[in-house]
Parts: sequence; structure tokens; C-alpha cells
Amino acid sequence: MKFEIVTIFPDFFRGPLDYGIVRRARETGLIEVSLQDLRNFTTDKHRTVDDRPFGGGEGMVLKPEPLFKCVESLGVADREERLSGRANETVILLSPQGRMFTQALARELASLERVVMICGRYEGVDERVAEALADREVSIGEYVLSGGELGAAIIVDTVTRLLPGALGNEASAQQESFTAGVKAGTEGPDSTCASGGLLDYPHYTRPAEFRGMAVPELLIGGNHEQIRKWRRRKALEKTLRNRPDLLDRETLSEADRKLLAELVTQKEKP
Ligand code: SAH
Repeated sequence: MKFEIVTIFPDFFRGPLDYGIVRRARETGLIEVSLQDLRNFTTDKHRTVDDRPFGGGEGMVLKPEPLFKCVESLGVADREERLSGRANETVILLSPQGRMFTQALARELASLERVVMICGRYEGVDERVAEALADREVSIGEYVLSGGELGAAIIVDTVTRLLPGALGNEASAQQESFTAGVKAGTEGPDSTCASGGLLDYPHYTRPAEFRGMAVPELLIGGNHEQIRKWRRRKALEKTLRNRPDLLDRETLSEADRKLLAELVTQKEKP
């Protein structure tokens, strides 16, 4: 899979993509990341990428010409082909005005062969880029960053670890927070505890007791069915506490609903 990142700060990516799973995926050729320095696509001697906003106002805006030239130089499929899904590629504009980046969108992107990402800076990007060059605007969260680079790095990281072969243990990606629609397996606790769209359950490792804090006894016991139930309960509990909105969109089993009702009653007790 290929990621192409359009930026005025290509050096920014030294570091974020050089560790762990992403580094290994690059080394083994599972992914390729190419950095495009936007200034190479300017024509004036000052290599100008920005200009003042029409209509007045604060700050500078990234000009359309270098961005169009840069993305077109990459040889991406026509925008119509991309939008219709006939081409296995997409061009993303990072923007706080975009659709929210979620695990579901990461999964969608992981099925593509090529993802081009345009990183804005300053006050933003000439709107014609969103209208006619990018296929979609994507936001990494409800806050304003000073540039799209961190967002692009986050997308590379999240998508890469979903690619088959990126993680040491394939099963673990199935069980994490936000991973919906995964059926419970029968091969012991590791694969029976699919997160099913909830937040992940708590994890513990050695030592069994640390500064007086003991690991839940049940996890040490090795009764897989009990462990599975406990993990589900804990996942529900944490989701209820930190992200109740996730419970609304998740289809819960009868057992889950019962557990949840118990948890809610417990919470309401003084
Ligand atoms: N004036 C704009 C913010 C510009 S921030 C507004 O109010 O919407 C400069 C650039 O940072 C943006 O063009 C975008 O590429 C990037 N950026 C900022 N916040 C972001 C976010 N939450 N998600 C993705 N990209 C973001």
C-alpha cells in the first residue's frame, strides 16, 4: 500500500514513521511512504506556496496551483474514477472541517492501494482543493492543529496496523476498542474477547501484585469462560463510563443488555 503525503515540511515525518509497526511495515515493503515537498511545485523564485485571503481577514492561505500540480504529478486516477470507487485510491485533504477519522474509516482506507494526503497550513487551503482536487476532507478530531502533518501521520499509523501482516499477532487487531462486528470465537480467551464495538477490556501483566495492587484473581485462575465474561463486563463498564455514545450505536446481545442494566443500577446507587 502506498501513502503519498503533500507537505511544506517533509522533514516533519522523520520520527513519527520510524518506529515500531510502521517502521517494520516500511522495511518489509508492506507500505511505502513518499513525501512530496510542496515547494518543488512552485514556479517563482521564492517558491511561494501561500497568499493572502480574498475578502480580507487574518493569515495566509495555501495556493491552489502548487497543490494541483503536485497531486497531478503523482499520476493518480481521475477524480471521477476515484469517487466512483473504480480506482483503488483516494486523495484526502486534512481539515478540521472534514468527516471524522474513525476506526471504520481507517478500515476503509486499508482496503485501498494508494492514499494521497494533503496537509494544510496557516489559515487553511484554497477551497478549490476541497471542491475539485481532493475526494474527501478528513478531520482527526474536534480541535484545530497548526498543520495537517500530525493528522497524516496518525492516518498512516492507524491504517498500517490494520494491514494483514503488520502486527505480530493478527488476532489482536480484531479485539481492540472500536472494532465492531467481530464474532466471538471459541479458541480461548484471546479470541473470544472481540471488543464488538466497545472500548477494549483492561489488560494486566506480571507482577501479579504491584505496590499493593493485585491483578484480578479470576484472570490468574485460567477459567476461559469466566475470563471472557469478566472482560465483556469490564469493556461495557468502561464504555458506559467514558463513551456512553458508543453503546447507542452498538447492537448488544441479551446478556450485554442485562449486564449493562446492572451496571447502570449500581451507578445510580448513592
Ligand atoms: N482556519 C481553519 C484551520 C486551519 S488549521 C479552520 O478554522 O477550519 C491549518 C491546517 O491544519 C488545516 O488546513 C488542516 O490541514 C490542518 N488541521 C488543523 N486541524 C485539523 C484537524 N482537526 N484534523 C485534520 N487536519 C487539521
